[in-house]
Amino acid sequence: MEQKCEFCRFWKKFGKPKDGECHRSAPLPSTQGSDKTLWPMTHIDQWCGEFQEEEID
Ligand code: SF4
Repeated sequence: MEQKCEFCRFWKKFGKPKDGECHRSAPLPSTQGSDKTLWPMTHIDQWCGEFQEEEID
């Protein structure tokens, strides 16, 4: 299986159809003035070295 966010257990679709949040680590404080914490946004085709394949029941 190709190692990309789309197939990673930490990725959750969010926002635009091909965008999502990486939940590999705790959310981070906003850098844009919001008091909310945010998970990093990634595109469906991106990846990183922390990839773990999503388990499918
Ligand atoms: S950035 Fe890395 S850990 Fe996060 S969803 Fe994509 S592949 Fe997974």
